[in-house]
Formats: sequence, C-alpha cells, structure tokens
Amino acid sequence: MSVKRQVRTSLVLSVIAVMCFSVPVNAQAPRTSPVAPRREQVEAVVREAYEKFKNDNNGKNADYIPYLAQVDSKLFGIAIVTTDNQVLTLGDVKYSFSIQSISKVFTLALAMEEMGADKVFQKVGSEPTGRPFNSPLAVVDMATHTGNPLVNAGAISTTSLISGKDANEKWNKILNFYSQAAGEKLQLIDEVYKSEAATNTGNKALSYLLAKYDRIYADPFESVDIYTKQCSVGVNAVQLARMGATLANNGINPSTGEQVIKREDIPHILSTMTMAGLYDGSGGWAWNVGLPAKSGVGGGIVAIAPGKGAIAVFAPPLDEAGNSVKAQEVIKYVADKLNYNLYSPSSVGLK
Ligand code: GLN
Repeated sequence: MSVKRQVRTSLVLSVIAVMCFSVPVNAQAPRTSPVAPRREQVEAVVREAYEKFKNDNNGKNADYIPYLAQVDSKLFGIAIVTTDNQVLTLGDVKYSFSIQSISKVFTLALAMEEMGADKVFQKVGSEPTGRPFNSPLAVVDMATHTGNPLVNAGAISTTSLISGKDANEKWNKILNFYSQAAGEKLQLIDEVYKSEAATNTGNKALSYLLAKYDRIYADPFESVDIYTKQCSVGVNAVQLARMGATLANNGINPSTGEQVIKREDIPHILSTMTMAGLYDGSGGWAWNVGLPAKSGVGGGIVAIAPGKGAIAVFAPPLDEAGNSVKAQEVIKYVADKLNYNLYSPSSVGLK
C-alpha cells in the first residue's frame, strides 16, 4: 500500500473509531498520564469479557454473613477508571455492594499516613499466611502473629492503629479517607453492618488472640467493631475503580486531583496486595495475572495497573478462597489482552 493510501486508510479508521467509541464521559480531560490506555483500546476488550463470562454460574455467595447470602448472584458490573480519569462501565455498575476486605487496603494507607510506613511494618508486618483469610492458626503459628494487613487478623490490628479520641472519631476518619479515595461521599450499609456485627465471633476471637501476643493496639472489641463498619461501607463498581485508580495514579485521585495517599506509600501497598490481596489464591493470581489486586467477600475485586488505571468488577459468587469467580475471569482476560501483567516485558514496552 502506498504511503498516501496508508495515511488515508488510517484516517478513515480513526474517524470510524471516534464515531463508534466517542462521547466518553471525560472526553475533554487532559491526558495527564503517558501510559494510560486510550478509551478505544479498552472498550472492546471489556465488552468481550462481559459477554464471555456473564453466564458463568460457578461459585457461591458468601453466606457466613447472612446479608451477603441474599444478594442477587446474577449482578455483574465492570468499571475501569484510568489515571487520566476516563471512565468505562458495563453492566450493574450502580449497585452499591459492601466493600468488605477491599477496605483493608485503604485503612492500611491511612495508618501509614498517620504513623509512617516503617512503624506499620513493625507493628503489623507483611508476610503471607498461606491460610484462609480468617485463620486463627496463622495468628498462633506465625512469628509476627499478625501476618499482613490484608488478612483479618492483620487488618484488625491495622484498624487498631488509627488514632482518635473515641471509636466514633476513628470510624469517621476512616470513612472520610475512603471517600477521598473514591472522590465522593461513601456511606455505611447499615444492614450489612448489623448482619456482620451479629455474627462476627470469629473476628472477636482473633482480636483477643492478637491481644495475647501484644499485636493489637487499642481495645480489641472496639477495633473489631470499627473494622466491621469499614467492611460494611457501600461502593459501586465505579467508586471502587476510582479508589483503585487513586492507587494507580501515585496516590492522586484522578477525578478530584487530590493527593489522598502518600506517594512513597504506594509501593508498600501494591506489593502487599500482590502478596496477599486474594488470600491463599494470591500466588496463583500473581502467576496468572501479575497485577496487584484486592478482593472482598461482597463480590468485588479491584486490580491496579500502575500508571494506567484500575479495573473493578462486581459479581457475588465466590470461589473456595473467597474471591469472586467472574471478577477474576474478567480481570485476567482484560489484563492479558491489554498487556497489563507487570512482570511481562511487553507491559513496559519491550518487544
Ligand atoms: N468482613 C469480612 C470478614 O471479616 C471481610 C472478609 C473478606 O472480605 N474476605 O470476614
């Protein structure tokens, strides 16, 4: 093909692309990231993933928190927010689900903000447990007892580090911090909180075990209660993707421009997510997908492509480890197609 013809063809193609995929919510947003994907790169892949996995019926809603057992298992939503604040959505992205364990990432960020990363590392640590997320055996067996901030024991310990004159002040501080990361005011889903608070004997037991080893830093039951509230915060897929995009964007919320999380804390957070974000499914996830991510038993998973953006998927049925089946499938598919795997040479532009 002649050069002229090539130019003409590519012009025609770009016009077609613009016609099909334009009217992005943030079409006018300046491209602040050199590596954020263009909308048209992502849109088709997300649609393919949605179609491919929407009828997968594997997995089962969490039922140890009674409220979660009743959530419609067919709900399915995908949202991507890029570091230059493009927003792509598909499916049930307005439904507000409980953030559950994904909250642990942001309480960790707040604790580091307050006392510095080194102190948090010293008080909680960051080692994989190789056991289920709520394991008391890990607390007994591990030298650090806490494991890491993303399993229940380590998370309750991390929550106990948040300062405040009383439980209410600590809780409000946490909720505000999450809201800053989401770029809008988030709220507690009271029914989830009540349902979990009535049944969380396992977490209370963990808090007392931690006390035995001096690895909880405020009243154990107060800390479990604040932790239970943080897990009951409602988010929709877009809000969750924006919280993830804040991590992908050096701690700056791409929609508000606010520096929510300290830049120097980001590598600690992302590495911890890589190691423990999907609990005892984390090794397989790193092997197959290669992106820091965090799951919650509410059915959400958010994965971070540093510098590029975040993808959040919500679909309640979970696998044995407590991770949403469809969310894992979608994120793996999208990450493969877009070359997001951090450990793949092509993700940094090598041929
Ligand atoms: N609130 C839940 C619990 O403490 C969170 C667990 C999760 O999402 N994996 O069990």
